[in-house]
Amino acid sequence: MSSPARRKVAVATLGCKVNQFESAAFLAGFREQGCEIVSAAGQAEVFVINTCAVTARASQQSRQLIRRIARDNPAARIVVTGCHAETATAELQDLVPGQRLIVLGNAAKDLAVSTALAAESGHVVLPEIGAAKEICQLPLVRRFSGRTRAFLRVQDGCNNFCSYCIVPYARGRSRSLPLAAVLAQTRLFVAEGCRELVVTGINVGKYGLDLTEGLDIYALLETLCREFPAIRLRLSSIEPTEVNDRLLRVLSEHNNFMPHFHIPLQSGDSGVLARMNRRYTAETFAAAVHRLHSVAPQAALGCDILAGFPGEDEQAADNSYNLLAGLPISYLHVFPYSIRPGTAAAQFTDQVPVAVKEERVDHLRTLDRQKRLAFYQQHLGTEQQVLVEHKDKKTGLLKGFTENYIPVQLRSAASLAGTVVAVRLVEMRDGAVLGTIES
Ligand code: SF4
Repeated sequence: MSSPARRKVAVATLGCKVNQFESAAFLAGFREQGCEIVSAAGQAEVFVINTCAVTARASQQSRQLIRRIARDNPAARIVVTGCHAETATAELQDLVPGQRLIVLGNAAKDLAVSTALAAESGHVVLPEIGAAKEICQLPLVRRFSGRTRAFLRVQDGCNNFCSYCIVPYARGRSRSLPLAAVLAQTRLFVAEGCRELVVTGINVGKYGLDLTEGLDIYALLETLCREFPAIRLRLSSIEPTEVNDRLLRVLSEHNNFMPHFHIPLQSGDSGVLARMNRRYTAETFAAAVHRLHSVAPQAALGCDILAGFPGEDEQAADNSYNLLAGLPISYLHVFPYSIRPGTAAAQFTDQVPVAVKEERVDHLRTLDRQKRLAFYQQHLGTEQQVLVEHKDKKTGLLKGFTENYIPVQLRSAASLAGTVVAVRLVEMRDGAVLGTIES
């Protein structure tokens, strides 16, 4: 293997925005060490694979990726980290035989770069995740893919233990990044030309509650909006119980806080929600949506919904569908429930048959398409502020997002990338919204 300074390194990432931020931080650390960064689709001497375990499918994809990389790079050192590494450590040993695998738990992600470049290999670094008290301090990220929009990780972990969810076991308790570190990362992103930041965490609404700084998510958003008035700030998600006057105040007082809220619902049936250990009812969710919609009717309001949770009968599935159909929701992320070993719901005996689950997923995904289309169509003919991100190689069109997260394509010079322009939304074509620049 070449000297650490010249090593070819690749980072492969699955899963959530927090993983994507962490992988960008690993890359920053490797660059600081002088490594050559190459694509994870090709050959490298060192790989870091940041895995996901949120669903059975995500775990399976993580294993496939590890297997593929190990097969195509028989001499490479392979560092596997992330939620699948944390929760399925023993299985990984079988995927990559020999001494070239290093398994790094989520609480040891700050060691990813040094471990990957160290002389010795072949071990497991798995600090007790439930005991982790502080968020991992990672190298500052200079570049985020695309440059224009970046994820700003401010929080990790979750205390909620929803009965279907493996995340608290994989990521530990809620831990927040101190304000000084949030501001340092934000300043760097801004200096590097970033125009929009997505404030991200595993349970980001709990930001600050573990710190002694007296800040919470609302105060953090308020601070970021005030300190960085030229930057668009978007919140990655917020629980229904966290939609309150303070959130609405940030929205009404700061033009740079984007009217886009992703509110995980998971089920529209209060009985199922109780068995999921989600601490709100369908009515609470509906009230949160109506509240946001009445203050900001143009806001994009999205949600996650799980289909086929154990014991979800026809009536409960209908309750979910009907609740969502009747609310001013703009889009849905629909997931089939999958058993996550070690969670409470994995023990539930009333599992829903796969075929029934699939049918419910299809039904909800159809509703998602209808909702998106209706939301986009409502905006045709209006002028929107679009942050132009990049040119699509296939179509030659520029792509960007409105403040309320409508994806827009437009024909213009590539030099507009990274700027916010006034765009009239003119028509829908193949599910995309086409716009023209207002002169
Ligand atoms: S709030 Fe519930 S679903 Fe979300 S990460 Fe925490 S335990 Fe999982």
